[in-house]
This record gives sequence, structure tokens and C-alpha cells, in this order.
Amino acid sequence: MDIYIKETNYHIGKGVFAARNFKKGELVLRVTGEVLPYQTIYSIQIDWGRHLDPDPPAKYLNHSCEPTTGVRSLPNGWPEFVALRDIQKDEEITFDYAMTEYCHYPRSDPGLEFELTCHCPAPGCRGRLGYYSELSQELKDKYKGFFAAYLIRNGRPPGEVNPNPDGRCSQGEKHER
Ligand SMILES: [Zn+2]
Repeated sequence: MDIYIKETNYHIGKGVFAARNFKKGELVLRVTGEVLPYQTIYSIQIDWGRHLDPDPPAKYLNHSCEPTTGVRSLPNGWPEFVALRDIQKDEEITFDYAMTEYCHYPRSDPGLEFELTCHCPAPGCRGRLGYYSELSQELKDKYKGFFAAYLIRNGRPPGEVNPNPDGRCSQGEKHER
């Protein structure tokens, strides 16, 4: 077994943890799931208007402002997660949500909105979950090679010619998770 799921100690909810040591660059996790036309609390964006609703264990991958893995897109756009550095057994497997999520899209049901504050234990925590459209150039450089392919192909919504089916970005709402 390469990974396991347990409760995290820094926020309420589960996380994915390394069951063994991983070398930098090593494949850590593949993702299975269903593609949805809208973003959810667990989804991973794979294209404009396409969001992968992952099965466990990927469902429990948490955001970190200093992540242990980055994204590598398969030819169909689906992500797999590779070690950004050597990972020790029992370290949490995380990624920066800005590697896949362009922005926070408004939820169809306002009750599904949640707090976007980041509670990750990284010393350099930015205090907010990651979105590509809000990322500094410094972090875009740092994560180069580890973004979802659609963001690199064209790191902006298609615009007037081909409107983003998700609609406009939103700042989220202050709701408890
Ligand atoms: Zn953080």
C-alpha cells in the first residue's frame, strides 16, 4: 500500500498520507472519478467547464500552500500526482489547489458555499485556498510543470468567443464547511 487515509490534525476532515517513502518525481497517486460540468468541494478541474469528482482516496487530498505533490495531466486531461520533493512515510499528500482550479465558481446552491480560508500548517500559508487566477508570478514559476494542462494551454477563460460554461468567478461565501 502506498497511501492511507486518516483524520488530519489541523482541520476537521480526512487527509491522504504516505504509507511509505517517495522519491522526488515519483508517481504518488492516480485519480478515478466522474466528470461533472460544475465545481464541487472535492472536484479537480481538468478543463474549462469540466470538473473531475474524484473517488477516494483522491477525494481526500487537501490543499497546502507548501504541497508535497504537483499535478501531471494525462492525455485526457485527468491528473495524477507526483512528488515535488522526497516525501517521508506518514507525511500528508497535498497539492496546491491553484494547480488545477482556475477560480472559485459560484455554487448553484448557496448552501454549498464554504469558507475559503486556508488552515494548512505551512509556515508560508497564504491564508486562502489556492486558485490559479489569483496566483502570483513567483508561485507560477515555482510550480512550473505541475499545473493542469488546460491552464497552460490557455491560462485564461475562453472569453466572448467561447464563454466559460462555469460562468464568472466568485469570492465564495463565509460558511462553515
Ligand atoms: Zn495554507
